[in-house]
Order: sequence, then C-alpha cells, then structure tokens
Amino acid sequence: MNQSPVWHAFTQHGLGEPVPLIERAEGAWLHGADGSRWLDAISSWWVTTHGHCHPRIMAAIRAQTERLDQLIFAGWTHQPAEDLARGLRAIMPETLTRVFFSDSGSTAVEVALKMALGHWANLGTPRHRIVVMEHSYHGDTIGAMSVGARGVFNQAYAPLLFDVVRIPFPAAGAEQATIDALDAACREAPAPAALIVEPLLLGAGGMLGYGAATLAELAAVCARHDVLFIADEVMTGWGRTGTLLACEQAGVVPDILCLSKGLTGGALPLAVTMAAERIFESHYSTDRTKTFFHSSSYTANPIACAAANANLAIWTEEPVLERISALGTMQAERLADISLHPRVEAPRRIGTIAAFDIAAPEGGYLAAIGPKLTAFFRDRGLLLRPLGSTVYVMPPYCVTGDELDLVYSAIGEALESLFDDLQ
Ligand code: PMP
Repeated sequence: MNQSPVWHAFTQHGLGEPVPLIERAEGAWLHGADGSRWLDAISSWWVTTHGHCHPRIMAAIRAQTERLDQLIFAGWTHQPAEDLARGLRAIMPETLTRVFFSDSGSTAVEVALKMALGHWANLGTPRHRIVVMEHSYHGDTIGAMSVGARGVFNQAYAPLLFDVVRIPFPAAGAEQATIDALDAACREAPAPAALIVEPLLLGAGGMLGYGAATLAELAAVCARHDVLFIADEVMTGWGRTGTLLACEQAGVVPDILCLSKGLTGGALPLAVTMAAERIFESHYSTDRTKTFFHSSSYTANPIACAAANANLAIWTEEPVLERISALGTMQAERLADISLHPRVEAPRRIGTIAAFDIAAPEGGYLAAIGPKLTAFFRDRGLLLRPLGSTVYVMPPYCVTGDELDLVYSAIGEALESLFDDLQ
C-alpha cells in the first residue's frame, strides 16, 4: 500500500478527492516524498511519450534557460522557434507549410477552428457551421468544447457554443451511415466550414477506434465539397497509434493539423496548428492590412520550443518507431491474456494504446466504477485513470515488459475484487 494521499490545499481541481503529492519523476515512475512510487501507465494524461524527465529533453531545457527565457512573438523571433518550425515542416506532410504556435491542445484546436471560420470569412463567403463526430473530445476552451460531445464538460455553456452538426461515430458495420451523414451535412446550404475529427481513435470519449478506410472516406467527402478537413492529433500524434501521425495510416493529409501533448515529449506546454498554404494566404496580405489575429503572451516560449526540438531530435535520431512497435506487441500480448476474464468486453488496441470495457454485473450498473478503480490503482502504486467503465493503458514508450506486467496484474486484481458492492 502506498503513502496516504493528501488533499489539495488551495487549488480548484478535480472532484475534491485526496490526491498523491509527487516530488519527482523518472521514466515511467512518479515518486512521492516518503519513498512511495507510482507507475505512470497513462503518461500523465498522454503527454510524456518518452517518459518523465527524459535526459535529452531536460538537457535542452537547461541549456535554453541559460540563454533566453521568454520573448514577445510578434515582430520578433528566436532560434528555437525557427528551428522547430523548420523541423516540423521536415517531418510533417509537406502541404502543411505554415506553423502557428500556441500552448495547449485546446488552444491548438481553438486556433484551427478560428482559421477555418476566418478562411471562409476572408474569402467573402462566410461559413459558420463545423461538422463534428459524436463522442469526440477536443478540449475545454469555448470553441473546443463546442466541437466536443455534449455532456458534463459543456452543458452549462450550451447557449454560447458554436454552431455544429453532429455525425454519428462510425461504429464497426455502420461506417456508411457516418459517411452519408457527412455528405448530407456538406450538401446543406450554406456549406459547413470544416469537419474536425480525432483520426482513428476517439480518446476521452472512450478510446473508440475506427478504420483507416473510413477516415480516408471522410477526408474524400470533405475534399469533394471543399469543406476543410481538420485533424486533431493532439492525442494520436507522436506515434501513439503506431505511426508518427494517425492520418498517415489512411493516406490522408488534413488542411489543418493540431498537435500538442507529445510535441515537447510531455515536458513543457506547447502546441502547434499547422495549415496548408491556402489557409495562410486567406489570412495575410502583402500590404500588411490583414493577419490572423490570435496571439498570447507565451506563444512559442523559447524554453518550450527547445524541449520540442529535443523531442524532434529523438524522433529523427533514435529508433522511436521500432520502440513503439515493440510496445504495441507487448500490449497486445497482455491484452489478449486479460481478455479471457469474463468481465472484459470489447478489448481493443491501436499502436501503443490498449483498452477494454468492463462488463456491467448482471442487472447492475457501472456508474460508480471509474473513481473506484482509480483509487484502487492509486493505492496499488499505479497511475491509471479509467474513463467511466473503460480501462485503458497508454504508457510512455520507455516502459518495460516487467512494468507492464505490474499494470496488468493490478487490473486483474481489480476485476476480481471490486464488484461486490456495485450490484
Ligand atoms: N484534443 C484531443 C484529441 C485531446 O485528447 C485533448 C486532451 N485530452 C485535447 C484536444 C485538449 O488538450 P489540452 O488538454 O492540452 O488542452
């Protein structure tokens, strides 16, 4: 049993539950002050792709702190940002010629939506609607919430949300209904500005996967109707689904791409929205009367950019995709074993991510299971945070087979012991 959790003192986060206090972290492990430790099996909300405090990333941060801490990114620039923009252009799809910096996944999405709406407005043919997929999650700012699923996150703000049209999630066997719904939404006048999707895997909505052929078809429908295609790869990017971008698996290149989380290897907050040249062109003019009006104080912070450059160096100089493929195999083996348990339903894996649903007890319900499981895992030295009754494992790429065994044996224990009072 681990150190007893403490209460947040003055921060306004979470549901008011006691929480562990972490002092340091390394690789896949979080360490508390008294020597207790937790295995971070969800990469601290899907960000620490290469593990905590990766030596190359930490060294780059330390070096940058000696040179330049912060700089207004309007009318001025610095080497880490220029290097990062060039580095991203070198490894991302070549039609995504422009890099716009911000500082979180939500703002990367907010920027993408503003770019899409601004694009049509600037062309003199305003469009206001965005097509979104059921069960999606894109962040917590107003625009990002608008394109997410309706629920606890956004219902209080319903009257303020953007105009969206929802298409169904392409569940296995029902993909055509999704494609037809998108086609119908695109035919309606005035046409929608854009479709935004999480490619191949809806994360916070329940780790719901769909096929590359469907993603390709959705992109093709958008292209046919000249509706912009926005890929939110905030979660799926940086190798999570087995390739650098999930879109690659469908041979799809979006008009606008959102990246964050693993962009700095998870060390510092930074995001980019990459856009095709035509989106850039509709926002700027050579006489300098037009621009894309969006900036914030910490845009392209030099230290965060240095961390991202170190992440890019890891990607280009080390066999990251091989590591990812090996992790995928380890996950598949353990998922196959745990799937034999009668409480495991719909086991699924894509790349480094494994997930399954917990079957409800007969005549019972599972509403309370998520927090209960989270507490159970925390007390057994694991950071694992199920989405309702969906358990998923998304560890950093440095995790070992033995460490994964710890994760799955705790899951097995939970499946055996947690259900008596849930009937
Ligand atoms: N888009 C997706 C697909 C996400 O998974 C998330 C975060 N879970 C976001 C956007 C929002 O990112 P952030 O929490 O950094 O604002």
